[in-house]
Amino acid sequence: MQAQVFAHCRDAIAIMDADWRILAVNDAFEQITGFSAQAVHGTPGLSCLSDSHEVDGGPEARQHLLSHCHWKGEFRATARDGRLFPASAAITAIVDAQRQVSHYMAIFTDITERKLHEDRTRYQAEHDFLTGLPNTVLFADRLQLALASAQRHRTQLAILFLDLDRFKDINDTHGHATGDAVLKAVAGALTRCVRGADTVSRRGGDEFVLILVDIGGPDQAAHVAASVIDAIHAIRLPELPEVRVGCSVGIALWPGDGGGADELVHNADLAMYHAKQDGRGEFRFFSPTMNAHVVERIELENALRQALANEEFVLEYQPEVQVSSGLTIGVEALIRWRHPRLGTMLPEQFIPVAESNGLILQIGEWVLRKACEQARAWRDLGFPVVVAVNLSSAQFLNADLVGYVDTALQRAGLEARFLELEVTEAMIMQGDHGAVDAFAALQARGVQVTLDDFGTGAASLARLRNFPISKIKIDRSFVDDTELVPAIIALARSLKLRVAAEGVETAEQLAFLQQQGCDEYQGHLASLATAAPQLARARQ
Ligand code: C2E
Ligand code: MG
Ligand code: MG
Repeated sequence: MQAQVFAHCRDAIAIMDADWRILAVNDAFEQITGFSAQAVHGTPGLSCLSDSHEVDGGPEARQHLLSHCHWKGEFRATARDGRLFPASAAITAIVDAQRQVSHYMAIFTDITERKLHEDRTRYQAEHDFLTGLPNTVLFADRLQLALASAQRHRTQLAILFLDLDRFKDINDTHGHATGDAVLKAVAGALTRCVRGADTVSRRGGDEFVLILVDIGGPDQAAHVAASVIDAIHAIRLPELPEVRVGCSVGIALWPGDGGGADELVHNADLAMYHAKQDGRGEFRFFSPTMNAHVVERIELENALRQALANEEFVLEYQPEVQVSSGLTIGVEALIRWRHPRLGTMLPEQFIPVAESNGLILQIGEWVLRKACEQARAWRDLGFPVVVAVNLSSAQFLNADLVGYVDTALQRAGLEARFLELEVTEAMIMQGDHGAVDAFAALQARGVQVTLDDFGTGAASLARLRNFPISKIKIDRSFVDDTELVPAIIALARSLKLRVAAEGVETAEQLAFLQQQGCDEYQGHLASLATAAPQLARARQ
């Protein structure tokens, strides 16, 4: 009878001797694994099935088996034909009268079906049946993880709470099947608006909540919210093209708008209500200052679009002085915006905006043209100074940078050696071979290339060595650093580059730089940035 049980059991059974070598296996073992009794006879434990050491002598399993005479667990097994399958196993040590292990018995079974069923059940418990999006359960889980990661990496996170506008009308007018089709289309549109690491979830009804991880700040969150609203407006159902969908979005940011998950979602929900009240089809931040900031920013962007046409930009020039002779050998062109209402704006206040909306390319072209014309005018007046122009990363990466610079030089009738371009470490790190080739071509024409704000970025020295530059400008935050300045100068010397210091304000600073062998300097000690005519007069 016992032999019958062994033979007919549906689970695989293997009996091992005290040295863990297989003595016998049953039919189910052969069926499940594909290995015959003959083939495995005398082989160690279940090693034929698994190369992971969980079963056959893995330290933990072994230890447990020795101390408890029993081990139970799961492992991934490989059948003879190479098929991988999850297995659930129980191993028992059979102890004789002297408390010595005489045999081991392993029973295991293929649990592929059960695992599939579990996966399906888990998926159903965590996803919305209609759209396939994560539901509130999975959303809560993802938000906890996202908050923990944001805390660890000190990044920001945004919650977008979205509610469709007048969804009830769609259901009432066209029926629930159409309503369902709209919800599915919304799910698809939302998923296309975000990055892979973000989460789009459905809260039920016509509410969706998004987690945007590692968000740059309120402007970026506003940008995503605006593109979400546009994408939802663009939805058309092929069978009912007249149906129009809209939505309102509330935004809460972490940190700032709530420490915990519930509070954040609640605040995003409140913000969404304000968006609805303010007339639907819009987004609102939970924080009033953020809303004001976004309004201000939109106004600034609109004004910036007009600024070129209205000739509101001007260039000021700051002298670059040779330390040894005290002579002005160059000038750096610095842009200012004479805003009709806000007065003179410094580059920090508008260059980032121009960079994010793409206007920087046109503005940069204008700066280059003006600076070249001015350099030509000075040269004609008998002041042969080099004009330095700051590049933005959009210009740096522009495939036609060389043509762009050539055109500016030709139009102004300026020799290339009177132009200097300033780049930053971040740009050099972004650039590829194309950028190296472009700058090599510019340098071959005689254009000088300077690495600006040196020390504030994180360029690798290997990249620096291979990038065609002729000068390093020590950032003004280091001018007083008696350890860094000599180190940077030594580095520049070994790379055969000239060194300039910026932001020099006192005679002591200059004396120190001179003693350290710095070639050039720039700063309030020599001169502020001034409009061109004054500079020309100052040198006459
Ligand atoms: P930058 O290229 O490092 O320019 C030097 C900045 O330091 C200028 O600020 C200048 O006014 C200021 N500065 C000069 N001497 C002193 C000093 O002795 N003490 C102190 N505290 N500051 C001094 P500005 O004009 O506000 O320009 C800021 C940044 O904006 C520039 O830094 C440059 O990165 C960018 N920028 C300026 N003009 C342009 C432009 O036409 N295009 C682009 N893409 N960026 C520009
Ligand atoms: Mg500069
Ligand atoms: Mg600088």
